[in-house]
Amino acid sequence: MINAVNPLAERWNDVPESDWEDWHWQIKNRVMTYDGLKEILKLMPSEEIGVKRSKGRLLMAITPYWLSLIDTMRPTCPIRRQAIPTAEEFDVSAFDMEDPCGEDKDSPVPGLVHRYPDRVLLLVTEKCAMYCRHCTRRRIVGSEAHLTSPQNFEKAYEYIRSNHRIRDVLISGGDPLMLPDETLDDILKNLRAIPNVEFIRLGTRMPVTVPMRITGDLISILKKYSPVWVSLHFNHPKEITKRCKKACDMLTDAGIPLGSQTVLLKGINDRLSTMRRLMHELLKVRVRPYYIYQCDPARGISHFRTPIATGINIMEKMRGHTSGYAVPTYVVDAPGGGGKIPVAPNYVISQAKGSFTLRNFAGQIFTYHEPVEEGEVVRVSHQGQQGKQGKKEVKTAETKPAAA
Ligand code: SF4
Repeated sequence: MINAVNPLAERWNDVPESDWEDWHWQIKNRVMTYDGLKEILKLMPSEEIGVKRSKGRLLMAITPYWLSLIDTMRPTCPIRRQAIPTAEEFDVSAFDMEDPCGEDKDSPVPGLVHRYPDRVLLLVTEKCAMYCRHCTRRRIVGSEAHLTSPQNFEKAYEYIRSNHRIRDVLISGGDPLMLPDETLDDILKNLRAIPNVEFIRLGTRMPVTVPMRITGDLISILKKYSPVWVSLHFNHPKEITKRCKKACDMLTDAGIPLGSQTVLLKGINDRLSTMRRLMHELLKVRVRPYYIYQCDPARGISHFRTPIATGINIMEKMRGHTSGYAVPTYVVDAPGGGGKIPVAPNYVISQAKGSFTLRNFAGQIFTYHEPVEEGEVVRVSHQGQQGKQGKKEVKTAETKPAAA
């Protein structure tokens, strides 16, 4: 288990354990202002600008837990870079988009996104415990978009109920675990009562940014509406602390399946060694990595974007070189709303009638012969294979026996 370099943690030494372990205390004591952050951390010039200007844009909010993981000696600390705004957020590139995944145009009722035939995304809050600087939904999160009124929830349930093809609902936001337990219970109860809803997922980063949110009460609610799958969001092995493992263990031990999505981020996890270590650490805490996302062209986050070739290269070095469970699917969310497109190294060298020429992870070439067409079938008799002379007896299609 990775233990963070933790020079800031001493700051909270006097906080009683019961407070530190209370997620409400963590949320209440988030650092959200320039003065508050400057008091505990020496800021770099780019951060000075970013933090001062973040008001009115994507908010800054950092839990004491997350701050305690920052390595103050490293300006490039991945924990720091995901949490503290920098001046680069105000550089807008030519291809930046307000709503890069085109969610708003696929929203039949406020707070509901319906793009794929059998599944919907239900946005239940704009709030998050921490505002990730690479957030693709930054047009909404931290804002007062008010997508999430009880009236809108009712409209969303009605839409799902009346569209029988919808069998999968992903509850997201913002972070759904920012809602009080009672509200979550109510949402899950309503969704479970819809006959066509088979599969409920809950997308959250709170087990990573404030793992104290995973409480016995919350687990009882999730179990009550089982199966509820939980999709986490990890970007760096340093996020998998002992405390985070405890939260993951509580969920897994309660029978709640965990998966993880990772965003490929420049300077944070765009090296093979970091990404591979992250995937291995996730398996150790029983979290199945399932997507690596190419960073979306959301406005103000182009400093986090890498070329797609970087992602393909990482996948090339992982597939076949480590456990299949540690190899997620690398996807590009098509800008403008085309959905997720898997992107992978090319393993098909050529294709001809009846055969494929393929390469394996080590670059060796193989031919795979496809099943032959009806009429071209030949059958080798058992006796022929085992014959005394060692010669194969081949029966043609005309002499093929009725049954094998
Ligand atoms: S937790 Fe998710 S929705 Fe919230 S800021 Fe981070 S990436 Fe965005």
